Amino acid sequence: MSQDKIFFVAIFLLIATVGGSFEKGTRDYPIKPVPFTSVKIKDNFWSKRLEINRTITLPHNFQKCEETGRLDNFAKAAGLMKGSYKGYQFNDSDVFKVIEGASYSLQVHPDVQLNHYLDSLIALISAAQEKDGYLYTPRRLMDSSYSPPGGKDRWVGEKEGSHELYNLGHLYEAAAAHYQATGKRSLLNVALKSANLICETFGPNKRHEVPGHQVIEIGLCKLYRITGEDKYLRTAKFFLDERGDAKGHDLIGDYAQDHMPVIEQDSAVGHSVRAAYMYAGMADVASLTGDASYIKAIDRIWEDVVSTKMYLTGGIGATGGNEGFSHPYALPNLSAYCETCAAIANVFWNSRMFLLHGDAKYLDVVERIIYNGFLSGVSMEGNRFFYPNPLESFRGANRAEWFACACCPTNVVRFVPSIAGYVYAQDDQNVFVNLFIGGESTVKLGNRSVKLTQVTNYPWDGAVRLQVDPNRPEEFAVRIRIPGWAQNRPVPSDLYRYLDQSNEQVDLRVNGQPDKLIMEKGYAVLKRTWKKGDVVEINFPMPVRRVVANEKLLEDKNKVALERGPILFCAEWPDNKNGNVVNLVLPDNSLLKTQFKKDLLNGVQIVQSSAVSVRRTLENTIVSDPAQDFVAIPYYAWAHRGLGQMNVWPAREVSAARPLPAPTIAYLSKVTASDNRRADAINDQLEPKNSIDHTIPFLHWWPRKGTTEWVQYDLKKEEAVSRTAVYWFDDTGIGECRLPKSWRILYKDGDQWKPVENPTAYEVEKDRYCTVSFKPVKTTGLRVEIQLIPDFSAGLYEWKVE
Ligand SMILES: [Zn+2]
Repeated sequence: MSQDKIFFVAIFLLIATVGGSFEKGTRDYPIKPVPFTSVKIKDNFWSKRLEINRTITLPHNFQKCEETGRLDNFAKAAGLMKGSYKGYQFNDSDVFKVIEGASYSLQVHPDVQLNHYLDSLIALISAAQEKDGYLYTPRRLMDSSYSPPGGKDRWVGEKEGSHELYNLGHLYEAAAAHYQATGKRSLLNVALKSANLICETFGPNKRHEVPGHQVIEIGLCKLYRITGEDKYLRTAKFFLDERGDAKGHDLIGDYAQDHMPVIEQDSAVGHSVRAAYMYAGMADVASLTGDASYIKAIDRIWEDVVSTKMYLTGGIGATGGNEGFSHPYALPNLSAYCETCAAIANVFWNSRMFLLHGDAKYLDVVERIIYNGFLSGVSMEGNRFFYPNPLESFRGANRAEWFACACCPTNVVRFVPSIAGYVYAQDDQNVFVNLFIGGESTVKLGNRSVKLTQVTNYPWDGAVRLQVDPNRPEEFAVRIRIPGWAQNRPVPSDLYRYLDQSNEQVDLRVNGQPDKLIMEKGYAVLKRTWKKGDVVEINFPMPVRRVVANEKLLEDKNKVALERGPILFCAEWPDNKNGNVVNLVLPDNSLLKTQFKKDLLNGVQIVQSSAVSVRRTLENTIVSDPAQDFVAIPYYAWAHRGLGQMNVWPAREVSAARPLPAPTIAYLSKVTASDNRRADAINDQLEPKNSIDHTIPFLHWWPRKGTTEWVQYDLKKEEAVSRTAVYWFDDTGIGECRLPKSWRILYKDGDQWKPVENPTAYEVEKDRYCTVSFKPVKTTGLRVEIQLIPDFSAGLYEWKVE
C-alpha cells in the first residue's frame, strides 16, 4: 500500500471511528464512543485486569486453540497438513475472536512478536480460503469421518446449526480490528473476499437462508464502515429482514429469533447470545440506514428484558435448555444460566442503545454487567472461565480452563481490552462521562481537542476527580452520568428496587464550588466555557443498600440482595459459619457494616452483618439458631477459594430460607449411583414444585436410555426401615427423561442385595412422591433399582427413607 493510501485510510478511520460524516454514508450513531485507543486506563481496579488479559488470557487462548486443533483445521483445509476436521463446526470462530482480542491489545500495546504471530495465523486462514472467497474449514475438510450440517452443500445447514455465517461474522469483526490496529490489509482482504461472495449469494432473487446464529450483521456493518460499500450494509439488513419470513423458508423459530419479522418482535425469546447480537446488529443497521422501525422494535424488546428478564448481575438467559430467555419474571438463581457470552452481548446491545438515544439508563445496565455478571465469568488469574454464572450454589463451582465449545473464553479475551471504549462518548457539543475508571483520554470535538484526566478509586470509593483540559477555552457540555444506584434506582425498571430510600445526595463541584445537578436523561449537564485546569469533583455516597425484587419475581420473594455502588455482593462459604450460606436469614433490621480488605481476593470491600441460621428437624419443623456473623464478598470474586456454598439472595424471613437438611437416615447416608452420577441431589431435602422443576438439582442418567440403573444409600449405621418414597423427574416437551418403566427397593443383607418383601405397589407417577411400604428390614444399605423405558432416560429429585 502506498504512503498516500495509508494516509487516506488513517484519515478515513479517524472520521469513521471518531465521528463526523463520510462520503458514502452520512448516517451513523448520533453519539460516538471515544475509541478505547484514545483512553488510557490507569487505576487500581481495571489496569490489573487489562494487563492480565494481555499477558495471561490472550496467550492462554492461543495455546488452547493450538492444542485443540483449531489452528490445524485451517492448516489442513489449506492442504499444508494431513488429517480430518476436529471439533465443533463453529471452532473457526474461536480463532477469529482471539485474533480480534489480540488486535485490540496491539493497538494499545505494540508487540512485534504478537504482530508476527498474527501474520502467520492470517497466512494460514488466507490459504484455507477457497478461490471464490468461501471460507468454512468444516466443509472444506469433510470426508467419510466428518460432515458438517448441510453436508457438501454450502449455506443450507444454517437451521441445523452449521454456523457457517456465524463464523464469518467473527471473521469480519476480527478483520476490522486487525486492520485498525496494524493498518495491514491481510485479514481484511480475506474478509472482503468472503463478504463479496456473501453479497453475491444472498439477497432478493438470490438465496434467502438466514443466519442460524446471528453476528454476521454486526460484522458486515463494520466492513461497511471501513469500505463505504453499500452492499455490505444492504446484506446485513437483508439478513435481518428475512427473519420470520412468512414464505416459510429456513424457519428456526423462537430459539434463533426467527419466529416473526424482526420489526414486529416485542419480547426477548430464545438463545440469549443470538438474541442480543441480533439486537445490537439491528441498532447498527438502524443507525446507518435511519430505519426507525428497527429502533421501535429494539426499544420494546429492551423494556421487556430490563423489566422482566434480567438478573441483578445484569445477566440474561435464565435457562440452560435453550441457553436463553425464559418467561417473564422466571429468574431462578440456583439454575441461572447467565452465559458469560450473553453478558458480553448485553453490553454490546446496551452500549449501542445509548449511542442511539443518549440516555444514561443503558449505561446503568452496562456498568452492572461489567462489574458483576461479566466479571464473574473470568478468574482473577485470567486463565479460568465460567460458562454459566449462577446466583446461588450448593456445592460451588470451578471455573474451567477451556470448553469444547469455547465461545466464552474467546469472548472474554476480546471484550476486556474494549472496556476502555465505554468510558467516554461524544457528539459535536457534548462529552459524555459514562464510566468511572481512572486514566487519561483525549477527545476531539470538531476541531477542538479536550484532554480528560480521571482519578478515582471506584468501584470501592465514590469520589471522582475529573480534570478537563481543552486546548483553548471553549464552550461545550460535560455530561456526567449519575448512576441509577446513586438515585435510589438500581435498574431502569421496577424489576428490582432498594428496600429503603437513601437521602444522601450526590455532591458535584466545579473548581471547588458546589454546583447544582441539572439533570437530563440521567446526566448532570455542566455546560460552560471550559478552560485548561478546570476540575470537576463528584462524590457518590456509597452506603450498603438492600435490594428486593418485584413481587412477581417469585424466586426472590422475601429475599434480599446487598449492593454498594455498582458492586453486587454474595455470601460465600469460607466467610460464614460451617460453610453454610443458603440457609441464612438476613433480617431487615440487622445492621450492615462495610470495610475494605486489602489482602482478601486481591483487595475487596466486604459487607458484615448478623444473620440467623435455619434448619429442619427430624420432626420436620423449621427452627432458627442464635444469630451468627454474616460476611458477603463481591459476587464477581466468588469461586476463587475452593468448592462450597454461595448465595446472592439470602432470605429476609425464615419462610424464604433453604433450611439445613434434617439429620434423616437419607441425609446421613453416603449416596452413590450407577454410571458414577453425582447423586447427592436426592437427599438435599429440596422439594420440587413438580416433576419438571429445573430450579433445584436432580439426579439423571441422560443420555443413557432403556437401561437398568440404580442409586444407593450406605447408611451411617444399621437402621430398621419399612417405608420409602421417591419423586421422579420427567422433562417431556423439553428433554429426554421420562417416568421409568418400573422400580424396586433392594436392601443389603450381608454382602447380598435382596428385594424387600411384601411391598405395596411401586407407583410411577409425576408431580408427587411415590411411596412404598414393605416388611421392615434391618440393614446398612438400600438401593433403588430403576428400569428405564426404551429410547428414554430418567431422573430423580428426592429419595426419602423411614
Ligand atoms: Zn459463551
